[in-house]
Amino acid sequence: MLLTGKKTAIIGAGPGGLTLARLLQQHGADVTIYERDADRHARQQGATLDLHEESGLRALDAAGLLDAFRAHYRPGADKLRLVDAQATIHFDQHQEEFSAPDFGHAHFRPEIDRGPLRDLLMDSLRPGTIVWNSQLQSLVPAADGWQLQFQDGQMAYADLVVGADGANSKVRARVTPLPPFFTGFTVVEGSVYEAARHVPALWELVRGGKVFALEGTQSIILSAKGDGSLAFYTCQPTAENWVQASGINFRDSAQVAAWFARDFAAWSPVWRELFTAAAYFVPRPQYCMPSISIGQPSPTLPCSATRPTSCRPTPAKA
Ligand SMILES: Cc1cc2nc3c(=O)[nH]c(=O)nc-3n(C[C@H](O)[C@H](O)[C@H](O)COP(=O)(O)OP(=O)(O)OC[C@H]3O[C@@H](n4cnc5c(N)ncnc54)[C@H](O)[C@@H]3O)c2cc1C
Repeated sequence: MLLTGKKTAIIGAGPGGLTLARLLQQHGADVTIYERDADRHARQQGATLDLHEESGLRALDAAGLLDAFRAHYRPGADKLRLVDAQATIHFDQHQEEFSAPDFGHAHFRPEIDRGPLRDLLMDSLRPGTIVWNSQLQSLVPAADGWQLQFQDGQMAYADLVVGADGANSKVRARVTPLPPFFTGFTVVEGSVYEAARHVPALWELVRGGKVFALEGTQSIILSAKGDGSLAFYTCQPTAENWVQASGINFRDSAQVAAWFARDFAAWSPVWRELFTAAAYFVPRPQYCMPSISIGQPSPTLPCSATRPTSCRPTPAKA
């Protein structure tokens, strides 16, 4: 095998890095994942992920983890309601009369909470594969491979480095000079614990699945999680520096609630309870890469020429 006798470093223990590590270990490769989180419990994992037959499910199948996935996915969590700002339902998969697709069907998109998905992937790796508290700072050529330099001063060597370190990848610059560009939209993520008690009307609306509320260029996405919490994402057009320029302290729910009441003034008051009940908020300006293949010449169009006009996180589901 090409990797025999070589050290492979994967930067980032997200779903991408963990799945690749599992697949490589199945073929006997020497793999280490370096992850910036302090440990596996360092932060709350976000909403559910939907896996598709031709990508995520295919990868889990190849990794021998489809049974573990079946044990942890959330049947029915893929059911969607499309509503408007007044929470009027326009499309409702809970009402569909035809039977929902199942495993093996091209349109089946089962949902799994990010926490259980991450756990099942981590538990499939050899002990010690993940080196926590390792935030990659830079990557410099060394011998036939790469010297990895971490924020705390630690160093490591690898023959091959894979960047699975997400949207703000430190590794990507070694592959392409193109930076990600701002899409023109900012998401504010939040989570309400014990949602049935704290936001009963919205918990009823989401019915264990998803709600996409769309109105003009604004949106709110609700996603029920298996632990009874409700993850949500607002999205609206903003300036790139909106998070700083707005002056909002996102740790102060009163300030966030005031912003929402102002900027989403035309929306039904039913949405406002999210902001009094949420345990935390994270503002996320949305960036993406120009859609070119690695190795092709840089596009000459200005980035703004590729801006999307709809307001959804990237990709569209939350
Ligand atoms: C608001 C929102 C909603 C989404 N909803 C969905 C959805 O419903 N369904 C879906 O399929 N996808 C969804 N996505 C996309 C999905 O989250 C990503 O496709 C997926 O997380 C990518 O996985 P990844 O492993 O490549 O990167 P990530 O999940 O971003 O993981 C990257 C990992 O690298 C670590 N890391 C980052 N920098 C460093 C560093 N310098 N050194 C070491 N470690 C580092 C991070 O801590 C993290 O653990 C959504 C994304 C967003 C932003």
